[in-house]
Amino acid sequence: MIKNLILFKTSAILLLCMAVNVSIAQNKEQKYIMVIHGGAGTLTRKNMSVEKEAAYRAALTLALQTGYKTLKAGKSSLDAVEATIHVMEDSPLFNAGKGAVFTHDGKNEMDAAIMEGKTMMAGAVAGVTTIKNPISAARAVMEKSEHVMMVGQGAEAFARQAGITIVDPKYFYTKERWDGLQQAIKEDSAKAVLDHGSKKSMKLGTLNHDFKFGTVGAVALDQAGNLAAGTSTGGMTNKKYGRVGDAPIIGAGTYANNTTAGISCTGWGEFYIRNVVAHDISAMMEYKNMSVTDAAAAAIEKVGKMGGDGGLIALDAKGHVAMPFNTEGMYRGTVTEDGKIEILIYKNN
Ligand code: ASP
Repeated sequence: MIKNLILFKTSAILLLCMAVNVSIAQNKEQKYIMVIHGGAGTLTRKNMSVEKEAAYRAALTLALQTGYKTLKAGKSSLDAVEATIHVMEDSPLFNAGKGAVFTHDGKNEMDAAIMEGKTMMAGAVAGVTTIKNPISAARAVMEKSEHVMMVGQGAEAFARQAGITIVDPKYFYTKERWDGLQQAIKEDSAKAVLDHGSKKSMKLGTLNHDFKFGTVGAVALDQAGNLAAGTSTGGMTNKKYGRVGDAPIIGAGTYANNTTAGISCTGWGEFYIRNVVAHDISAMMEYKNMSVTDAAAAAIEKVGKMGGDGGLIALDAKGHVAMPFNTEGMYRGTVTEDGKIEILIYKNN
């Protein structure tokens, strides 16, 4: 009886260890792999309904399936990143494209960037209000212009010429985000502490944001061994007109270099810009020979020490994944070369 119990306990522990290992695709080399995030913040089981969690998991799964199909067909990591981010931009659940958060003035001003690790070519747009899929405009800037970044109306005119879909700004509206802005404005003047993703931002600054950040990002490694990274966002709720976050700034929120890693960040953008987080990770790997896991962890620790919060996804050229965050949760997921999809929201699952 006792022997059986011990046997049972040992196998239970073994199974648990296996589950933990399996649930972290991080340490296994992969020929091709895709990693995504859908934003970080106060994501706890307590403030998440079953329906909402299921909807997020379904949207993240669809995004990963799209990326996987692209990679499996032998297409480039750049194609996979763009296609995957499209899915998340088109979903009202995320703070990118449809469902982007509102500025203080009640507008949706979006930022996006994409970078290719092989050529280290990059493209970005910022403060755009009519481009349905800002990530495609970022790619057009990279491939069809001699520039890296375009902003506002110029970026929109360029995107139109490049054949990118333009929509009425009303397309981006969702009631949830509008209500989020009203709540943020109320908090600002009343200085009340409501359900909020960043206790630090409330103490230190005037910027309020939704109870989660919701930016989307993707990093892929393709069959040819090339990395690409992309990020797309509506920024932060109640941001001032013209404010640009880290997402479209190459080296801050987005970066890719085949010799180190592809990185996409989400969080309180001002801290990611000041710390040049994405490039910092690449530099630690390049100059100090650090692993992607250690470099990513060190970068997030630094952001946290300064008072910022958020997370990031990073993928090295061998397919090792790091997904650290200093918030309660981060929507994130991976699809490995065997087609296995893994979605995580909270600290451990
Ligand atoms: N990093 C984004 C910004 O500051 C916000 C986010 O990640 O949700 O614009």
